[in-house]
Amino acid sequence: MTTTTVGKLNNFINGEWKESNATQYLTVPNPATGEELAQVPISTKEDVYQAVSSAKEAFKTWSKTPVPKRARVLFKYQQLLIDNWDELAKLITLENGKTYKDAYGEVQRGIECVEFAAGAPSLMMGKQLPDIATNMESGMYRYPVGVVGGITPFNFPMMVPCWMFPLAIAVGNTFVLKPSERTPLLANRLAELFKEAGLPDGVLNVVHGAHDVVNSLLEHKDVPAISFVGSQPVAEYVYKEASAHGKRVQALAGAKNHSIVMPDADLDAAVKEIIGAAYGSAGERCMACSVVVAVGDVVDPLLQKLKDSADSIKIGDGQNDDVFLGPVIRPEHKQRTENYIRLGVQEGAQLVRDGSKDEAYHQDGYFIGPTIFDHVTTDMTIWKEEIFAPVLSIVRVDSLEEAIELTNKSDFGNGACLFTQNGSSVRYFRENIEVGMLGVNIGVPAPMAFFPFSGWKNSFYGDLHANGSDGVEFYTRRKMLTARW
Ligand code: NAD
Repeated sequence: MTTTTVGKLNNFINGEWKESNATQYLTVPNPATGEELAQVPISTKEDVYQAVSSAKEAFKTWSKTPVPKRARVLFKYQQLLIDNWDELAKLITLENGKTYKDAYGEVQRGIECVEFAAGAPSLMMGKQLPDIATNMESGMYRYPVGVVGGITPFNFPMMVPCWMFPLAIAVGNTFVLKPSERTPLLANRLAELFKEAGLPDGVLNVVHGAHDVVNSLLEHKDVPAISFVGSQPVAEYVYKEASAHGKRVQALAGAKNHSIVMPDADLDAAVKEIIGAAYGSAGERCMACSVVVAVGDVVDPLLQKLKDSADSIKIGDGQNDDVFLGPVIRPEHKQRTENYIRLGVQEGAQLVRDGSKDEAYHQDGYFIGPTIFDHVTTDMTIWKEEIFAPVLSIVRVDSLEEAIELTNKSDFGNGACLFTQNGSSVRYFRENIEVGMLGVNIGVPAPMAFFPFSGWKNSFYGDLHANGSDGVEFYTRRKMLTARW
């Protein structure tokens, strides 16, 4: 841990650590032990105004800095992230609770975003048509939009901020990041390393806090674009509020991801993937598998294998090598999960494995073991709502058509997977499912940085998604030049 990630945290404004004007600080605990890691300020409107004003000033020179020169800073940043990979992964495990292996993978995902952004010279290219009429030509040129505000969730302290600021900055914008107040440490390290890579002061700013910081960004006249990732109600709110203030918005929201298992699936491989997708990162992934749709007679052997596998999961502090399932983020989240388990039973689902009966449940950390419900139906709350914890529901259907019809009833449309060996089932699935990110024989089909992260329905509000060509479009605006010679 460095001095910027312990004690009373500061904001990062204009390249310097600045004490917040906050009167309130929240404790950031290690979710695996409950021990205090740091104190995060609940910053004020004034803090946001300072950050936006420094970003606005920095935009004047950064936006005019030649794009290869900007890209060079990104290349240097990429190398620094690689050099500090282990430290960053350990920090993620400390503040989020996910295992070191998951955290290590998350750092990789973040680095890939920086690598994509370093391609800014190609990504920024425009288009020309030399002969739109006699002696007339047209050209499209790409420019940054200005100061971008980014608001991020707790579950990926590195990857999600890296979906935003590296690309936004590489194409010439400046940035104000509001990380989750539940995982604020890594953001400070990311900012510090970017400065070390040569990023000029004011180009990236970090303001810690909660609603007030978010609302100040949504309202601020000098912030023309907002990138948000978080839960569905907040995404919808951010989308509506920022749009009402005339901003472009991309708001990535919650999920309820279904995995359909066909009778012809390789069951052992499917179980391994589903267990990883349902219980990895304690189920706190927007691409987590939370519902298995078992087709036909696959259900009995599938359920048995899932239960056996869940029974063998080691629960504990993610810093320990053999642990697979770490804590959830806060005691309130553990309580919320237990409430869902109770509700599932009340609503008539069959509780096959109860994670609150695991020994780790009674430790100081916020642990809850792998939970499985069978005979779940679409009228139950545990099917409808995102639980965001290690709870897996099984629904039983008779055919692929029925499985897809059921999956499409969900209000969410982030991810869906199909486990099968049959090509025509894959085609039917791809053509008929109303979900934006599909997996075939894999559990977490999260696209890499060079493709857009493409949730549908209530999993996304806006038009242009994060990453890939959508990200470039979102963080740039165009000029069209039409000329007669
Ligand atoms: P959250 O919505 O509680 O918080 C996200 C951000 O919004 C935080 O920075 C928080 O401070 C802020 N916020 C929270 N409530 C607010 C309010 N009332 N007004 C203004 N700002 C507010 O989300 P979380 O619990 O941190 O993250 C988990 C959620 O994020 C899950 O629903 C998950 O599915 C979703 N998520 C989605 C994706 C995706 O790509 N679709 C990726 C990661 C996480």
